[in-house]
Amino acid sequence: MVRCKTIIAHLSEYMDGDTSVEMRQKIERHLRGCQRCNAVYDSTRKMLVITGDELVFEVPDGFGDRLHSFVDSMLASSESH
Ligand SMILES: [Zn+2]
Repeated sequence: MVRCKTIIAHLSEYMDGDTSVEMRQKIERHLRGCQRCNAVYDSTRKMLVITGDELVFEVPDGFGDRLHSFVDSMLASSESH
């Protein structure tokens, strides 16, 4: 079983299409079964969509920090997971 930490660490690569097929399948399988990671994925994706209507993955100033503190709080709340 892949840990939530691993999934979240690879989430941005996954969204960029930058992961290996194996990792992508692991992530997709995990997302189907894990509400918490699904919430992180969903929020991250929405933030990216707001960034621009073209497929631009350039991150505006402060976005990375906000994302990191968000992910950190998610991870902190999943310590016992
Ligand atoms: Zn998870």
